[in-house]
Amino acid sequence: MTALKSAHYFQRFCEDYGFCIKRDFKQIYATSAALSWTNATAFQKFCDDSNIPCERINEKEFFRTGLCDGAFLTEEFTYDAMILRDYYLEELKKSGCVDILYNQKIEKIEEADQDWIVISSGTMYSAPFILNATYAGINEIQKMMGYETFNIKYELCEIILCEVDEKLKDIGLTVMDGPFFSIMPFGKTGYHSLTSVTFTPHITSYDETATFECQSRSNGACSPKHLANCNDCPAKPESAWPYMSQLARKYMLPELKFSYVKSLFSMKPILKVAEIDDSRPTMIKVEKQNPTFVSAFSGKINTIYDLDEVLLNE
Ligand SMILES: Cc1cc2nc3c(=O)[nH]c(=O)nc-3n(C[C@H](O)[C@H](O)[C@H](O)COP(=O)(O)OP(=O)(O)OC[C@H]3O[C@@H](n4cnc5c(N)ncnc54)[C@H](O)[C@@H]3O)c2cc1C
Repeated sequence: MTALKSAHYFQRFCEDYGFCIKRDFKQIYATSAALSWTNATAFQKFCDDSNIPCERINEKEFFRTGLCDGAFLTEEFTYDAMILRDYYLEELKKSGCVDILYNQKIEKIEEADQDWIVISSGTMYSAPFILNATYAGINEIQKMMGYETFNIKYELCEIILCEVDEKLKDIGLTVMDGPFFSIMPFGKTGYHSLTSVTFTPHITSYDETATFECQSRSNGACSPKHLANCNDCPAKPESAWPYMSQLARKYMLPELKFSYVKSLFSMKPILKVAEIDDSRPTMIKVEKQNPTFVSAFSGKINTIYDLDEVLLNE
């Protein structure tokens, strides 16, 4: 479903947000010869059935002999989240009717006639419509409202940004399907991101709101009631670079060189029903109308299109 939905939105996203998309690189998907949930034949069939372009290439072009049983040139682009953010900040500024308040602590939300009254960081606001799009913080708000929480687990994730040599510059490599890795251009930043199924998630919480031991070492900034930004936290984990880089080097030809620049940490909420098959569905719940409260749990960035249905009806 994730593949079909992503393929369906792919064209639309490329048209709407072409300015933040990097296209000029080759994305290679390879199936690991050992420990993989899929093989080259099954992957090719999956792409054909989903109408996703994929062209068989010689795996020895990029991978050490015997480690992958197939490799494919596919069509995958990468978007630059910072360029996208700046675009929308500019659009909102132009609209002249949106004030953005950062670093807010929502203390209370109450209903009053046709409006919500929100008390946030000591100030009161009123609105007839609330969209709860707080991603890893979504259950903090659901709980505060007395609404059913989303059945999610939380992974504290590390994305490593690398500098790469000329040979790897316009190449993205992903090895599937299991405890493997991906190294590919990170938007238009000039860096490659390195991630791995095993080492990108550092720690996991299965509680209703994200609860981690490290929160007690965050100087009071982070708690299950209010998640903070892991990048600014003194208790953030040590980088998994030694493990991730070793895994990638085990598979990649030695001449494809990459080196560590920095790490980005963030909290990834995952629906528990989706943890087995890696799907990333979006869930949108209209909790109440007049005043209206909509909760949107975003699986992928294309949630922006799933929201059409709900927002255009309001
Ligand atoms: C490591 C990682 C890699 C990913 N890779 C991809 C990818 O390759 N492709 C893809 O499509 N998607 C990817 N995603 C998913 C994608 O980032 C999300 O689906 C998307 O960012 C969600 O957008 P959003 O606007 O709902 O939430 P966000 O962009 O996360 O914004 C939520 C905001 O709510 C704020 N907030 C949280 N709690 C509270 C609270 N209690 N009170 C007030 N504010 C609060 C947060 O500070 C934040 O600013 C990835 C996610 C992670 C973590």
